[in-house]
Amino acid sequence: MIRIAIAMGCIAVLMALTLTGAQVTQRPAGTAHTGNAFRFNKVAEGVYHAVGTGALTVVGNSSVIVNDDDVMIVDDHVSPAAAWVLVDEIKTLTNKPIRTVINTHFHFDHAHGNQIFEKTVEIIGHEYTREMLTGGKSLVMPLYKNYVDGLPGSLATLRQRLAAEVDPAAKARLQTQLTSAESNAASQAELKTTPPNVTLRDNLTLYRGNREIQIRHLGRAHTAGDVVVFLPQEKLVMTGDMLTSTLSNMSDAYVNEWADTLEELKKLNFTTVLPGHGDAYTDLAKIGYFQAYLRDVWTEVTKLKQQGVSAEDAARRADLTKHRANIPSITAPGVPLIGVTRIYDLIDGKAK
Ligand SMILES: [Zn+2]
Repeated sequence: MIRIAIAMGCIAVLMALTLTGAQVTQRPAGTAHTGNAFRFNKVAEGVYHAVGTGALTVVGNSSVIVNDDDVMIVDDHVSPAAAWVLVDEIKTLTNKPIRTVINTHFHFDHAHGNQIFEKTVEIIGHEYTREMLTGGKSLVMPLYKNYVDGLPGSLATLRQRLAAEVDPAAKARLQTQLTSAESNAASQAELKTTPPNVTLRDNLTLYRGNREIQIRHLGRAHTAGDVVVFLPQEKLVMTGDMLTSTLSNMSDAYVNEWADTLEELKKLNFTTVLPGHGDAYTDLAKIGYFQAYLRDVWTEVTKLKQQGVSAEDAARRADLTKHRANIPSITAPGVPLIGVTRIYDLIDGKAK
């Protein structure tokens, strides 16, 4: 009888795994939200660019690839809660199991959902991404520290604004923002960085039915371990933050190598970019605009450093406004200090 009970128990466990697909069975903290958290923008048969609606804090974009028998996710957002809700909303597209997650790089807004996936799910990333997500190394980097240290202040500001607001529509919007921020803070408290369990150094190609999925490291750029996901038949490329719809932060970048790496990207035969931030686009001239910006920001900041200007002053003075016509987010002189500090460290040989 006991043996039968154990066997029945195993079957029940197996059924639970099947029913829950690729998720962990327990809902993480901070999933509360109203309405859909994601827009799934279809870019090819079975391929979607998932962009946050603002109902939940997700920060980066992900992409979803539905194959004959399984589903792949490229990047899994800022928190366990955001990844959990992504998995939940993917059920509106397909009931096939999620078997693969790809991290384009180690940054928190692309890889902090990794922990919700069961151990049978392959999480693929560059070996540098694994290194950074192992033992909490990524959590002491300035980008994440600035983000997480800023959360209590943002919550306090939102609460003050909500209390002072009298217009009902504005109050409702602020309430949505506050709920989203509170959920995010609750989820950050449960964070356990989880590294890829499959790594690559240069290239890895997956075949799923008729679909070919190439994962490629083209050189150092936004980080030392960026990979892009290239679908040659669909002519799509998922670029993470190596190429976004506008500027990309430089906190861990190899600023002086980035434009050359983008030159390698341009050799792939694609027509649509699915970036890590912003909507998908087909205007490939944007790659050249960003390359020109990167080369100039390196030259301008280097010049200021050679004149003995401090990083803080260089961040105010570096003038890239000549790129304004092609990159509208540049409205005035100045470059984020975190990027200038990185360039100074690269020049001094102190960058890791
Ligand atoms: Zn990002």
